[in-house]
Amino acid sequence: MVKQNRTPPIPASTGKEPTINKIALEEHFSIRELLPTSEALEFFDPQVLDVIEPLLPELAETRLANMDNAGIEIAVLSQTAPGIQAISDSSEASTMARHANDALHTSIELQPQRFRGFAALNLQDIDAACAELKRCVNELGFVGALVNGCTQGEYLDNPRLDPLWLTLEQLDVPLYLHPGLPTNQPASMVKELDGATWGWSFDTATHALRLIVKGVFEKHPNANVILGHMGENLPFYLWRLDSRYSSTRYRNDIGTTPSAVFRQNFFITTSGVCDDAALQCSIATLGPERIMFSTDYPYEDIELAGRWIDQATIDPLAKTMISRDTARTLLRLN
Ligand code: ZN
Repeated sequence: MVKQNRTPPIPASTGKEPTINKIALEEHFSIRELLPTSEALEFFDPQVLDVIEPLLPELAETRLANMDNAGIEIAVLSQTAPGIQAISDSSEASTMARHANDALHTSIELQPQRFRGFAALNLQDIDAACAELKRCVNELGFVGALVNGCTQGEYLDNPRLDPLWLTLEQLDVPLYLHPGLPTNQPASMVKELDGATWGWSFDTATHALRLIVKGVFEKHPNANVILGHMGENLPFYLWRLDSRYSSTRYRNDIGTTPSAVFRQNFFITTSGVCDDAALQCSIATLGPERIMFSTDYPYEDIELAGRWIDQATIDPLAKTMISRDTARTLLRLN
């Protein structure tokens, strides 16, 4: 468990053992070869890093004990950022994606009741990436893919990457769009706000909106994207998004409003946001059926996240959907 200084107010422990029945989708690991570079970790307090780094490659007793303490039955594991997306050589990216996915598959086989996997994708070579996604889903039993932001400067609305969306539709699995290393931050960005504090959410929310306004979902209406961090702030912004998009001269005709596409093609998770007000806003704007619990382990406090959702002041039926039922249906877990 990650202990951090100066955290916001958190729910106190009730002293009761958690019921182990939750499913969590933004739970990271790393193969040794892809442990985050100093560039990806530069924003972390060194004391926090000392706790996080040993937990990334660990897929055994410590992780399972932390899941137990948070009441998590199943963790859907993914290679942590920036992962494959940071590799400039295309054939090395393909080799490493296959290696990471095989390593994850081995760990899942050792804990078939507790672990599932999202595939890492070598989008540097789109044909190889689609083949790898098919292999991971059809042969290894993975439940989707997770991409860490842009790949070598290319965002997922790039027409070159269109076969990915088709493959996701054909396989009927979701894509988890996770922050990675942005290409260029705007001049307004300062170190104090970059990284997980704000910069990565800004980049990832923009990435998601690019998919909408560039018409990805007009072409691929059955594609599903999952955003972490309570939807990277977008649930709060939907009204203004529609209002101002209707008045921009650069509007593409996407057949409907941006918010309608967001409600239709996106799911969000609660990873890294243990805040009743943010959750209530997301339920009000998206409906509980579009929200799933996650923790962002090992970057966030998994026990706190579990305790928070167990105690959140929301409708009990909505809580059950968010804690496990929607994930079970979307990812076809049995
Ligand atoms: Zn994460």
